[in-house]
Amino acid sequence: MKKIVFFCIPAHGHTNPTLEVVKELVSCGNEVIYYSYNLFKDKIESAGAKFVSCDDFDMEQKLTPKDSARIGKDLAFSTKILVDTTLLLDEKVCSDMKRIKPDCIVYDSMAVWGKTVAIKLGIPYICSTTTFAFNKYSAKIMKQSPKDIIKMLFSMPKISKDIKRLQEKGYDIKNVLDLIGSDEKADTIVYTSRDFQPFSETFPENFSFVGPSIRKTSEVFEKKCDKLIYISMGTVNNDMLPLYKNCISAFENTDYQVVISIGNIVSKDEFMPTPDNIEIHSYVDQIAVLKKADVFLSHCGMNSASEGLYFSVPLLMLPQTTEQKSVAERVRQFSAGMMLEKTDPESILKATEKLISDDTFKNNAKNISNGFKNSSGAKGAAEKILSIC
Ligand code: UDP
Repeated sequence: MKKIVFFCIPAHGHTNPTLEVVKELVSCGNEVIYYSYNLFKDKIESAGAKFVSCDDFDMEQKLTPKDSARIGKDLAFSTKILVDTTLLLDEKVCSDMKRIKPDCIVYDSMAVWGKTVAIKLGIPYICSTTTFAFNKYSAKIMKQSPKDIIKMLFSMPKISKDIKRLQEKGYDIKNVLDLIGSDEKADTIVYTSRDFQPFSETFPENFSFVGPSIRKTSEVFEKKCDKLIYISMGTVNNDMLPLYKNCISAFENTDYQVVISIGNIVSKDEFMPTPDNIEIHSYVDQIAVLKKADVFLSHCGMNSASEGLYFSVPLLMLPQTTEQKSVAERVRQFSAGMMLEKTDPESILKATEKLISDDTFKNNAKNISNGFKNSSGAKGAAEKILSIC
């Protein structure tokens, strides 16, 4: 029996793919201790891990909705949050790991504190990457606009200052890429297929592309119409009232069944009375809905896009962050979805009908799905973790 410690950031998108891996490890008799945040306690414990709360050391969850929306969009701001959290957690994590003596640490690619403590104490470690693996080749897919590049250049002094704060505490972090880029020397699990990862051939053998980790669900979603449209902008940057209202205008007089997951920022009261064919929820069992969906209007978070494609659902894509834009670009390259160029009701309806009427999109989504299903999955990820213990 091995003792394995997971570290993650407070995000559903980074937590969800690890849960099937935790279940797999626990079912083989291993002990898993999972450092995360109270919001995720129940699902982590349900997966069979012992939960350790990092809430007292977190910066991200104390942010206003406006500041939360800057995460992933504003590099300097995201770096500051990451550095603050790493420094706050430093002492607790170090003393805990000396006591627990894990056989291996599995750290989310953004939970730098997991990696640095592993290096400090000589514990074997492995990176868990819920986005595309990132190097100078795969970075090409993140087509930055000139405006983005100028903004990034201006934010460099701020970023360097934060990196220096880590260096002063003895962290071997040279630049922002050491924080957010993939470490080619570290064993790494990537939750996508080798085919779907851009430039996968440029990554070394120690990178395992295990495919998306799709959680199992017992919930059965009731499909009431011939076509089901599912709309979600994810769990982070979902403060998009005008978009949701335009979706309602687009679909209210159609034969489509529409499910919109709006998140916790926008209130459901905004949509009263709701047309009969449209359901509004703060959160749904997305896997249950996607199993029956015909089109998924998505922000293209890595998990949502992968889950949609896994169930061969063509994507109507409205990415917000650079990372989401890169996922959307990859889906576009495979013609498994379309960008939503304009968000007025007519454009939303027209694009949805194109995705429904042209089988090419669904067939291409199915090809990607086959690649996902042929990957080694949560079982492969668990085997990889045990192999480095
Ligand atoms: N999710 C869900 N129900 C919802 C909205 C989201 O189960 O109503 C899950 C979804 O299945 C995915 C995760 O939350 O696993 C969102 O992750 P993603 O990377 O797509 O986006 P983020 O929320 O990180 O922007």
